[in-house]
Amino acid sequence: MKTTRLKSYLGGRWQDGEGEGEALLNPATEEVLARVSSDGLLRAPALEFARTEGGPALRALTIKQRGDLVQKTGALLQKNRDELIGLSMTNGGNTRSDAKFDVDGAIATLQAYAETGAALGDKRILVDGEAIQLGRSPRLVGQHILSTRHGVAVHVNAFNFPAWGLAEKAAVALLAGMPVLTKPATSSSLLAHRLFELLVEAQIWPPGSVSLLMGRAGDLVDLLEGQDCLAFTGGASTAALLRQTSGVVMRGARINVEADSLNAAVLGPDVTPDSETYDFFLKDVLRDMTQKAGQKCTAIRRILVPEALSERVRDDLADRLSAIVVGNPDTEGVRMGPLATADQKTAVLDGLSLLAKDGRLVHSRPGLKPEGVPEGKGFFASPTLLEVEPGADAPSVHSHEVFGPAATIIPYDGAAPQAVDLVSRGAGGLVSSLYSEDVAFVSEATLGLAPFHGRVFLGSGKIAEMSPGPGTVLPGLVHGGPGRAGNGEELGGERGLAFYMQRTAIEGSRPLIDRVLKLGGA
Ligand code: NAP
Repeated sequence: MKTTRLKSYLGGRWQDGEGEGEALLNPATEEVLARVSSDGLLRAPALEFARTEGGPALRALTIKQRGDLVQKTGALLQKNRDELIGLSMTNGGNTRSDAKFDVDGAIATLQAYAETGAALGDKRILVDGEAIQLGRSPRLVGQHILSTRHGVAVHVNAFNFPAWGLAEKAAVALLAGMPVLTKPATSSSLLAHRLFELLVEAQIWPPGSVSLLMGRAGDLVDLLEGQDCLAFTGGASTAALLRQTSGVVMRGARINVEADSLNAAVLGPDVTPDSETYDFFLKDVLRDMTQKAGQKCTAIRRILVPEALSERVRDDLADRLSAIVVGNPDTEGVRMGPLATADQKTAVLDGLSLLAKDGRLVHSRPGLKPEGVPEGKGFFASPTLLEVEPGADAPSVHSHEVFGPAATIIPYDGAAPQAVDLVSRGAGGLVSSLYSEDVAFVSEATLGLAPFHGRVFLGSGKIAEMSPGPGTVLPGLVHGGPGRAGNGEELGGERGLAFYMQRTAIEGSRPLIDRVLKLGGA
């Protein structure tokens, strides 16, 4: 049987790379699903086409008109939801529920940004705050505005969310009026490719607004210019390379990084095992350890528990982890699929060996036999729980992210200062969560954790029914974090648009500025 080749959509046409290319696999069975190559594809003309064709066409539309196109894009995904979920299961190793998390997340984010567009209305520029009086006379003022950058938004995505990662970045950039060139992670790019085929067929966006580079990036990032934006999601070491590329260093292309994170869940001192909050905490930890086999940037990696409760938490979690059926997502009853690639499996196993130097293994399944998988096939890892001694330094637990179904219990003294000290050793995270009803504890810990995080989740039994948990990134809230997490920020409703726009202070007479803004589409 001839293997499908996945082409790139560059310069307004489908283009294939040279050579045999790389195989995209089903990570549960290792069956080859397609091949992809970006060798020989010319990135520079593709970027220029986006800048010169897509940029002006998008900037000619108002934010509301772009929002209408974002809405149509969301509707297109909704219409093809089942097919996209199927591809996510075969190429991503996702269970149906994991695949829905990605695809429905993409649809919900597109819908949310369509609403943001509708709310902002028929504007082309955004007025940022009130005019500031600059002298004695109210006539001389300064007014900040945001206007769309004239470059291309290059999006480099991680393997774990091929639909949501693509959509959440594209929705924001396109609404802001920037053309997008997206590069999915190669290993799981079947879904992003299909999504693009649908998008191109539907002709929703003006020519040059959306481009797709399949396969390796090559010199893509080196070619960026000063009006371009690079939004990257992936590992910290790749981010470090991208920060040093000439477009960023020499020409001032803007870069946003979403990288690693050692997210923590802290159980408060007031929580008893018979409470709703305790149950909520256990559910969130279990979901984060096993959903997408733990390959979620927001997944809980460190579990802080008051010393007196650590034995109970350990037993409860180990019990629930034992009940998780691991195997081929196609097989009835499977709750956790494989890791995405052989490399991820190696990285997870290496990472666990490192953590095991600082902690004790509490739950693992050596010799795991995944359900519905040919003998010896698939990139499976066992759900793994570790525990460190109270007061132990455990440096690897606070510095090494194992991107798989693993987490470590860290007993603490039950007081907010120690919880904050331990969590902040992670050196900057996307999200950490506090499970407590004790207002004094929650207040001290929240404000202590805030400088080290992009988001702090307050878990209590009172919101258990309605909350998606800390692992779900919501379009209205910022996603990103300081330090290790990349020091970036995405989403956050209207806030997200600012990355793709230039903030400019306009200084002059108030009546003139008012006229300029009116004529310019504020
Ligand atoms: P990765 O190896 O850094 O790859 C991420 C993306 O970068 C892929 O599209 C990859 O393409 C591309 N890439 C690699 N080298 C490049 C280069 N020299 N120039 C341009 N692009 C390059 O990360 P990953 O293994 O896919 O993802 C796992 C990591 O991502 C984890 O550490 C996780 O914490 C992090 N992550 C963070 C978030 C967040 O929102 N903060 C979300 C998800 C994941 P190829 O696939 O073609 O190599």
